Amino acid sequence: MTRDVEFDAAAKEVVDCLLTVVGGTPIKLHEPIFDGNEWYYLKECLDSTYVSSVGRYVDEFEKSLANYTQSGFAVAVVNGTSALQISLKLAGVCSGDEVLVQSLTFVGTINAITYCGALPHFVEVEEETLGIDTDKLRNYLKSNTTFRNGFLVNKNSGRIIRGIVPMHTFGHPSRIDSLVELANDFGIFVVEDSAEAIGSKFRGKHTGTFGTMGILSFNGNKTITTGGGGAILTNDQKTAEKARYLTTTARIKHLWEYVHDEVGYNFRMPNLNAALGVAQLERIEHKLSMKRELFTRYQNAFRELSYIEIFKEPKDALSNYWLQTLILKDEYAGLRDLILDMSHRSGIQTRPAWRPIHNMSAYSSAPKMEMTVTDSLYKRIINIPSNFNYEIQSKI
Ligand SMILES: *Cc1c(COP(=O)(O)O)cnc(C)c1O
Repeated sequence: MTRDVEFDAAAKEVVDCLLTVVGGTPIKLHEPIFDGNEWYYLKECLDSTYVSSVGRYVDEFEKSLANYTQSGFAVAVVNGTSALQISLKLAGVCSGDEVLVQSLTFVGTINAITYCGALPHFVEVEEETLGIDTDKLRNYLKSNTTFRNGFLVNKNSGRIIRGIVPMHTFGHPSRIDSLVELANDFGIFVVEDSAEAIGSKFRGKHTGTFGTMGILSFNGNKTITTGGGGAILTNDQKTAEKARYLTTTARIKHLWEYVHDEVGYNFRMPNLNAALGVAQLERIEHKLSMKRELFTRYQNAFRELSYIEIFKEPKDALSNYWLQTLILKDEYAGLRDLILDMSHRSGIQTRPAWRPIHNMSAYSSAPKMEMTVTDSLYKRIINIPSNFNYEIQSKI
């Protein structure tokens, strides 16, 4: 058999396995499911006329989020990117700084750094967690940085490295404990991009609560959605108050006067979106158990295939399994586009990982580590349908 014929057969085999799990087509990568009090709370919102940035659902959503994640405080904002932007600003990122961040991430992570006038400094990820490789990063920092006036400085660029933004890829917790240890050793902050990881835990502690701040996203394709939305998590009351103040135009509290003592942002989450959020969060345990069950179904479906594996939650971690992830063995990377193509033609929405940001023209000259694993993973990852009601779907 020629390699082409062999590859076509393998791609077809993968699509057939997908079909056995998804049941019917067309099927989307991640459909939101509204099976709780969404309609009821939205109606209540409209009836009350409180649809905008004031209203009881915003407060309730923040309290429920803080309680659910066991974070001291949660501040609800318009999206995950703005949550990250404000967190970085509060963590002390200044114009001209560098911020360490994995290149294998959604562009929103990097945009937030750029909005602060800072530069991303790309770091390598590891195959085991799809998160930052702490050991490689430690060695890299040892030889490429120095301390100047108490600040960590990139020896090559002369710029201050202010902090690090680990991301919990596809919902799988990174090695966040050793990353926090590394950050402490080098005197830099940790802000966790936990946009994809609501419900995920590392050694029993919710992702996004390890760093000085963490963020969540409630975009339409995330585990719970508010249409668009995000939140800042922090254990520090002063930071939470400052975040709330900055995201509501930096207005000084007053009954009727409008005075703003610095440049603020209109980033507060509207009540309508928060109403959706409250309803979605009430159902999170059900959503998480459906995702875990879906993982098991895929694991069984793909068990016999030797050239591809479904990514399983890393050691010490409880994953929310936000996006189910197939990873091809090295020699079979050439299969990726065939599978993407064939699955789309069959009505199954799949996608590759984000193209690593260090390969995008806007960031081609940004400082970076060696990116062997990042570049290799990009060629081998395929995300497959991760949120649909398979109980209904399989009866179609
Ligand atoms: C979804 C996401 C964000 C934030 O996205 P918004 O659309 O702004 O809510 C940030 N980082 C990562 C890794 C994400 O997946």
